[in-house]
Formats: sequence, structure tokens, C-alpha cells
Amino acid sequence: MNKISIIGGGIAGLSAAIQLAREGVRVAVYESEYPGYGASGKSAGILVTIMPEELLDYPLESLEIYRSLPESTNNIWRVRALWINKNPGCMDKLVKVHNRKGLDSVIIDADEATRVAGFSMRTYSGEGYALVREFVVDIGWAINAMVQEASRLGVDIISGRVVREGDVFKGPGGRIDQPIIIAGGAWSLQLLPGLKEYLVTYRCQMATIEGARPARIIEDDALHYYIVPVSPSRSNIGNGANTLINDPHEGFNPDQEDIYDIIERYAERNPDAWNAGIVSYWAAPCNTSGDSLPIADRLDSLGEVYVLTGFNGAGLTMAPSTSKRLVHHLLYGDRLPGIFRLSSSKKTTGLNSPPEPYEPC
Ligand SMILES: Cc1cc2nc3c(=O)[nH]c(=O)nc-3n(C[C@H](O)[C@H](O)[C@H](O)COP(=O)(O)OP(=O)(O)OC[C@H]3O[C@@H](n4cnc5c(N)ncnc54)[C@H](O)[C@@H]3O)c2cc1C
Repeated sequence: MNKISIIGGGIAGLSAAIQLAREGVRVAVYESEYPGYGASGKSAGILVTIMPEELLDYPLESLEIYRSLPESTNNIWRVRALWINKNPGCMDKLVKVHNRKGLDSVIIDADEATRVAGFSMRTYSGEGYALVREFVVDIGWAINAMVQEASRLGVDIISGRVVREGDVFKGPGGRIDQPIIIAGGAWSLQLLPGLKEYLVTYRCQMATIEGARPARIIEDDALHYYIVPVSPSRSNIGNGANTLINDPHEGFNPDQEDIYDIIERYAERNPDAWNAGIVSYWAAPCNTSGDSLPIADRLDSLGEVYVLTGFNGAGLTMAPSTSKRLVHHLLYGDRLPGIFRLSSSKKTTGLNSPPEPYEPC
């Protein structure tokens, strides 16, 4: 294979680039703004392991890809998150799967959950609690390290927007030869309007709050928010499902009401949050298919054009390993997993909000 062009310098495009280049392929990455401009640079950095069993190898493979980058030992943290869910039976099952995969997760009771949360936590009947092994990746480092690794491997990172004229894709230097991978995040639809029925775009947002800091990450599926302590007194707080939008650029405008709503949910768990100050908040456009799983497939009607997008609020977790599947398909003809291929289950018809990403219960 002569050269592969990738459109998009987010986690998806960059991780595909370095994996291809490590296999000796010449690669060009086109990025209209700067690497990390889209959702990637705004991520909370949680490498999620609260996943359906059949997906659990993906975060673990992504972890290995992050670990292969320069300076990784100082920028990836092993953590144990407090997971709260209303389906204790399902939690029990996932914790057993974790243990089989070498992740030391454990079911705990409400008293222990309150102790490890580090504040006087309100618990509600019917909830289950677990301490779950997850990882936090410093997202600024990850993007820089991927760019550094790409440069070391001779990947061309080309600054400029790619446009489509008919079936031809054009960058700053003119026509781009196939094979092409479109990893343009929420902007992918502008280049591939034919995928409109498979993708919706939505606003992913977070806030930094001062005060009411938990002792650890909490992923609260019962009250629908997550919180990540980031300094001795501050935490980042967000939620999974957010508002659908049409233009990806709308995704950069945070919705204040949503931010208050997220903090109020946390306050139901931790009443101190009523007094927490909002330090800042931000948002970026995310996208998802109807079944919440990524799309990695070839678009036969365009020749050798591939799409790699739809990471639904968990691209930091899923993009490196999903792109690995696409790279192995391109280079060695390995079959693409059916879950990533365009099929009727990915259609978004009738969706009013994005589906919960990778919900195990
Ligand atoms: C607030 C927030 C918190 C998050 N937290 C987490 C988390 O904790 N864990 C997790 O796993 N995930 C998280 N995510 C989700 C994750 O960040 C995204 O799923 C992931 O970044 C998507 O990566 P991507 O490469 O597909 O898209 P993007 O990062 O959006 O990259 C697409 C890139 O393509 C470029 N581009 C688009 N069109 C063109 C074109 N025509 N020509 C040239 N360039 C183009 C854009 O400029 C952009 O830089 C979070 C996201 C947000 C916003």
C-alpha cells in the first residue's frame, strides 16, 4: 500500500495514523484546525471499563496503545472508581468478568461506598455499589504524545480543511488519493452526508466545580452524572446523555441549564454540592450511531474510503482499539467486527437524545 490519508486529527485519526505508520505505511493526516480541536481535547480522560462484557477488550487494548506512547508512565493513572447502579445483579456479573480479565473490581455495601466516596453520601434503596478498576489518561499528554510519535514515524500532519467535490476529496495540496479514512468526529457527516441516517451529533459538556470534592471518581448511573477529582479542591463533572444539535460548531457552546442540572444531580448524592462554585464549563460536539457503538466500515460506493467515527462520549476509551481493527482490516484483510459495520441497528431514526454509551446494565 502506497499511502493512506486520514481526515481528522482527533484521537481516532491520530491513533489510526500511528498504528499504520508503525506497520511501515506512509500516512498523511489532514486536520482543519489543530490536533485535539474537536471533542478529543475536551475529554475528561476516563478510560472506561464499565462496559458490556463483549466490549471489555477494547478499553484494555486502547490502554496498551496509550502505554506504548512516550512518557506514558507519568500520564496514565490506575484508579478505582465508585460505580453506583440500580441493577445490583448486573453489577455483580460485570465485577466477575472484570476479575477474570485481571481488573481488581469489587462489590461493596452502602456503608463502605460512603466511606470511599469521602463525604457523607446519600444512598437510596435498590442501589448497588462497586469499586471498579479504571484508568485516567491525561488527554493533553495523549494528543501531544500521539503527534510526537506520528512525527517520529514520518507521518505528514497537514494543516487544512478537506472538502468533497462529487466523489473527490480535496485538501490544501489538491486531490487526495485513496485509500482515505474519514475520522472527522462530528464533522464526518459534512464529508459523508449519505451517513445521515446512521449518526446524530450532540453536545458533550463538563464543568469544573470548587468544593464538594469526592475522594475518587464516581460514576453514578442511578442519578446520571460522573465526577472526577482533579485537584485538592476541584472536580470535573459531566453526564453521559446530552442535547442533540445540527451543526457541530453549536457543540462548543455550553448550555448553562444543563450544567446546573448535572450539579443538582450530584447534590442529591452530596448536599455540599449546593454550595460548590462553578469555576468554568465547556463543551464539544460528540456523535453516535443509533446502537451507541462506533462505526468503522468501508463505504464501497466511494471506492477505498473508510469511516471511523461515532464514539459516543467514550472515544478516548474506544478509538485506539477500534482504529486498530480498521488498520488490520486495511493491511491484512482481517474482518471488521460486525458491531462496527453499517447496519440497520445503527440507524438513528426517532432518537430524541443520544443513547447511553456502552451501558452494561
Ligand atoms: C466534555 C467531554 C468529556 C469527555 N469525556 C470522555 C471520557 O472521560 N472518556 C472517554 O472515553 N471519552 C470522553 N469523551 C469523548 C471523546 O472525547 C470523543 O469520543 C473523542 O474525542 C472523539 O474523537 P474523534 O477523533 O472521533 O473526534 P474529534 O476529537 O472531534 O476529532 C475530529 C477532528 O477532525 C477534524 N476535522 C473534521 N472535519 C475535517 C475536515 N473536513 N478536514 C480536516 N479536518 C477535519 C476536526 O477539526 C477535529 O479535530 C468526552 C468528550 C467531551 C466533549
